[in-house]
Amino acid sequence: MRDLVIIGSGPAGLSAAVYASNACMDFIVIEKYPMSGGQILNTEEVNNYLGFESAEGFTLGQTFRNHAEKSGATFVNDEVVSISKNKTHFEVKCENETYLSKAVILATGVIRKHLNVKGESDFAGKGVSYCATCDGNFFRNKIVAVVGGGDVACEDALYLANVCEKVYLIHRRDKLRAAKYLQNRVFDNNKIEFVPNANVTEINGGNAVESVSLDNGSVLSVNGIFIAIGVEPEVEFLNGLADTDSQGFIVANEDCKTSVDGLLVAGDIRTKPLRQISTAVSDGANAVKSAEDYFNRIEM
Ligand code: NAP
Repeated sequence: MRDLVIIGSGPAGLSAAVYASNACMDFIVIEKYPMSGGQILNTEEVNNYLGFESAEGFTLGQTFRNHAEKSGATFVNDEVVSISKNKTHFEVKCENETYLSKAVILATGVIRKHLNVKGESDFAGKGVSYCATCDGNFFRNKIVAVVGGGDVACEDALYLANVCEKVYLIHRRDKLRAAKYLQNRVFDNNKIEFVPNANVTEINGGNAVESVSLDNGSVLSVNGIFIAIGVEPEVEFLNGLADTDSQGFIVANEDCKTSVDGLLVAGDIRTKPLRQISTAVSDGANAVKSAEDYFNRIEM
């Protein structure tokens, strides 16, 4: 049986891996995707992580992964199906194998929320996207809409303005939620038209997206729509094992301890006021410290 299983290899999981290596723990990192990095893989530019004035999200993800590998972390490409705890250990059941460990750090991150409007699922991959950096190039010199008012919506609008003819930024209020520097860049960009106080009610088209209908009665002709209305955790595999808040985020303080002794949670999936790379990296360190405290307690 291992000391620790870390699930997820975004900034939180990779930071935990470096700290677990330094603590000489016997551990593995389980990642379901072929790449490490989590949400930052979809970020064009990161400019607020100390030491990196301007980094490509993808490159930063690789840099973090290289650091974790060089520190001695072992990675397993598998998807977790369930986690359970008995008196002495956790059982992490994956699609290909089951792993036993004394403690678990959950760092599985979040996924993008859906709008749940008519046409959204019908046009998935035919003009509806949740990732501007992945799909933006398909809309070169075309007209697109971005929905949302947070950091991601503004980042997406700015990225798309570089490749598209025009970008509508549709937001349900008249004030954006994004960091001020992103708002300034959006408002200074003459390819981006801000559409405030509007909700998308339907996505229309034939073989692909042709327009979006808004609740103010207008219809915007667009070739694509990028949905950036926030994130939600994926916690089904927990089967109610740990306490979550009303939105499904796993309840824990800065010490990353969940309602289950020995189960720690790190990164965006934890209840927290600010979801950033820096706070995810900090969680990774704190979660390993809490795992050490737990080992000391159960081995006394
Ligand atoms: P977010 O900050 O939660 O913003 C979501 C936006 O979508 C809000 O403006 C919200 O409107 C709007 N919205 C939510 N539900 C909606 C609905 N059903 N219909 C229409 N609009 C809806 O989410 P995010 O921009 O995806 O960012 C996720 C997290 O990652 C945030 O904590 C963010 O700070 C973080 N992030 C960090 C970095 C970085 O570290 N550099 C970069 C990107 C993102 P209201 O404003 O009216 O609520």
